[in-house]
Amino acid sequence: MPDKDYIKMLRKPTAENPLRILVSACLVGVRCGVDGSNYGKYPSVLKLLDYDNVRLIQFCPEDFSFGTPREVCDIYGGDGFDVIAGKAKVLTTTGKDWTDKMITASNKMLQIAKDNNIELAIMMDVSAACGNHVIYDGNRFNVNKKYQIGMGVCGAQLSLAGYKIISWREYESLEILYTVIDPSHKIDSDAKDFNQHEWYINYFNKK
Ligand code: SF4
Repeated sequence: MPDKDYIKMLRKPTAENPLRILVSACLVGVRCGVDGSNYGKYPSVLKLLDYDNVRLIQFCPEDFSFGTPREVCDIYGGDGFDVIAGKAKVLTTTGKDWTDKMITASNKMLQIAKDNNIELAIMMDVSAACGNHVIYDGNRFNVNKKYQIGMGVCGAQLSLAGYKIISWREYESLEILYTVIDPSHKIDSDAKDFNQHEWYINYFNKK
């Protein structure tokens, strides 16, 4: 869940001391998706490339552990926290157990976060690795596929270490971030975080 108060309190970065943000590599155009694509364009994150007072540190945990292209995987029996706790598994659609190597990838991502002293992470949502708000509950290709509120394995690993994460579609939070980076930025008052979207409210029956 985005923490808007945390984002508001981020320091004012400068070109000499830029804001250090860890991003899922696919969000900035790296072709590290399961099919060798970058899953399209994410203007809400690409916008950050325009600022000289932001440093983006990119990483793809699944490429690190499994290469690209690769099979699709999802979490079975819980979320990323449960995987780390040994209570849930990461399985590919053909049934390969990727649990251990996914945890290895999450440890690598955590190390990168520490080495770069990151101040925020912006990650792809829904992924079994980078998910940070909503993920699939089991196989995404099931006719009766289900979603759950929760984090992927890397999201959970970063969160356990105290790092704040938002996804590319937390548009209200990102608007706040843009004003931290650029005080002249005019906030789009229509921008909503994912949990304010109609689909989310209806699906999870939350207001
Ligand atoms: S969501 Fe994460 S694991 Fe998946 S392609 Fe993007 S960076 Fe890699």
